[in-house]
Amino acid sequence: MQLDLHRHLEGSHSPRALLEVARTFDLRHPLFFDAASATFRTPEALAAQLTMAAPSDDATLFYQCIVKARAAYVSVEAIRALSVLAFREAADDTDGFEMRLSLFSMARTLIENQNLPWRDVRPVDFAEQYARPILLAVSSARDEVQAATGKPMLLRLGLSRTFESEPHYRALAKMVVEHAKALVGLDVLGIVTGVDKEPLPAPLVEILEELRADLPDLTIHAGEFEGHASVDRTLALSPRGIGHGVHSLQSPATLERLAKEGVTLEVCPTSNRLLIPTALGQLMRAHGGATPLKALQQAHVHCVLGSDDPTPMGTSFRRELEVAGALGVDLQRLEADMQRRWRELT
Ligand SMILES: [Zn+2]
Repeated sequence: MQLDLHRHLEGSHSPRALLEVARTFDLRHPLFFDAASATFRTPEALAAQLTMAAPSDDATLFYQCIVKARAAYVSVEAIRALSVLAFREAADDTDGFEMRLSLFSMARTLIENQNLPWRDVRPVDFAEQYARPILLAVSSARDEVQAATGKPMLLRLGLSRTFESEPHYRALAKMVVEHAKALVGLDVLGIVTGVDKEPLPAPLVEILEELRADLPDLTIHAGEFEGHASVDRTLALSPRGIGHGVHSLQSPATLERLAKEGVTLEVCPTSNRLLIPTALGQLMRAHGGATPLKALQQAHVHCVLGSDDPTPMGTSFRRELEVAGALGVDLQRLEADMQRRWRELT
């Protein structure tokens, strides 16, 4: 079974899918449409805009690729069409997967794309008129593609640590509880450019704790842009999975705790190579040249593999499996950990 257990919907809109939706909905945005020649762009031209050209420690370059693709979030119908295509492409790439849905940022973007300042939208309207229809559209797209392909597809709600507005997050969380059955759990994610790149704002943690009554399986992105201390403080929330977590390798105590508590690290080799090249080099040098996934396996930490954001990272889950194999990762062990984590989720 080839199960992609760390993949984001916002990073899964291929140039081909975006152009198909742009044609269907006649989106003459300059990203998709060349006004001078009055033609839609080619997938190759669009790919150059949406895929990282080279590794960089500046995560905002990655984030810009994500932001550009959001130009197609012009209506709930367009988001549904994009979701159908993203699920189909993920199904072609795997035997099943878990997809993360950044519902707050999608709702905010939909409002902004309608030329409204999202902060002027009352929290209850934000949740009811934007976030709920998006959640229903994405989950119905999932149901449709799952039925058509017979491949299992899980959806996880991602909440960004950028935490732009507590009242809007609270209204969104209240609405999400009614759709808990459509979701497999919660995730904390987001690109933050501060002194602390992986903050966990106290009111966000409060919201997570309330949501966990209905959505107990928690994963958190940590130990990617920050060191092992970020993983340590994340473990205080008892997550079942940690996104990336490769900086755990800095601390034998952290590794021991991960192994003992059976927390799964979701490791994404191409994502690490592109987003944290300097840190990756340091971690590898400190572990005899071993790639983090291999070193984590040697430390008896359960690890699964993820493609993270296939479009900006120019990868696929199949490609990540090849990369892992070439880096000397124990693929049998990876498969066993994948099955173990899948059983926790299903
Ligand atoms: Zn991620």
